[in-house]
Amino acid sequence: MNYQPKPASHFDPDTIVLTKGSFQTTQQRNFIQAICNVYPKAQVIERFDISHNRFELGSSDPLELHYKGKNTLLFGVHKSALRFSDEDGNTCPNYWHFSPYGFCPYDCQYCYLAGTPGVKYSPTVKIFVNIDEILDQIASAASKLSEPTAFYLGKLQDGLALDSLSGYSRTMIPFFAQQKLARLILLTKSANVNNLLDMNHQGHTILSWSLNPGEISDWFESNVPTPDERIGAMQRCADAGYPLRAVIMPIIPVEGWQNIYTCFLEKLLGSVPLDRITLGQICSYSGALQITERKLGKDNPISKMLEKGKSKDGRVRFPIKTRIEVYKYLIAKIRKLQPQLQIGLCMEEADTFKALDMENSIGCCNCVL
Ligand code: SF4
Repeated sequence: MNYQPKPASHFDPDTIVLTKGSFQTTQQRNFIQAICNVYPKAQVIERFDISHNRFELGSSDPLELHYKGKNTLLFGVHKSALRFSDEDGNTCPNYWHFSPYGFCPYDCQYCYLAGTPGVKYSPTVKIFVNIDEILDQIASAASKLSEPTAFYLGKLQDGLALDSLSGYSRTMIPFFAQQKLARLILLTKSANVNNLLDMNHQGHTILSWSLNPGEISDWFESNVPTPDERIGAMQRCADAGYPLRAVIMPIIPVEGWQNIYTCFLEKLLGSVPLDRITLGQICSYSGALQITERKLGKDNPISKMLEKGKSKDGRVRFPIKTRIEVYKYLIAKIRKLQPQLQIGLCMEEADTFKALDMENSIGCCNCVL
């Protein structure tokens, strides 16, 4: 691939780290060197003796570590980048997901990824240079499929935030276009879709945006494209013929939420043609919520609403009564605006689906076809 990297918006690393296996072939060296040239002021550290998750950022304070990680771009090789998820204790289907990147440069205060073990101990922003090997692994898994199946990019990272640096979409989209049964689902908050628009995608790449109303984004999301910018990117991708989805998550029922989310849904559904919308609320880990509280203070609206104790899957959520009230209201609004639109719920429990009379929708969500 001959791609000329461009700066990634909302990302200006002060440190670049090269780890084991990332600088071996001429192609890898050219790739990394071209990205280093985009950030001439960044300090480049060579640590070919350690793997990608072993770089020490030199802090024991979780918040300091978190921000040091978000200012560090690390190149590595990920040998097990393709995985089949292993959710237990909620209604999520298991599915293929893959990681050409690790973590994310954006700064959402509610970010649950910050509390996952991989990120908690290694919160650098990662680009894995073995993209060809990762796609070979996907091709091998795809050769055993008997029906169209999704490979999801966006579970352990933002799927597009670093694309202007790596240009990976320009390899992945043609790869999936040629696949008989494998499909790409990519979740992002990025508004930079320039690499995507001229690709011959064959409808095999489904693009999904994570969104919230402007009022919620202003309060709980920093250093991230605005919802209007994201909707603008969706419109451009709709014009380029991509199938589109939206994930409204985490819905945060602050004062006046009914009006805030109604206006937002009217705007979103009136602006872009969606194939599916998935709703979700906070479902996080205590480690991530500690970082949320460091950023927003202990008395923040999310913490105040959270249920004491963990759910069966180890996550912390709002009380089920609140969740059902919020879903009922928003689902009614969506049905009124677009009666045929598929609606999914993300990371929910069986009792929630039952209370909403949506048991038939279990397993219809963003991560699967
Ligand atoms: S975009 Fe996603 S992964 Fe990135 S900070 Fe926000 S919630 Fe976390």
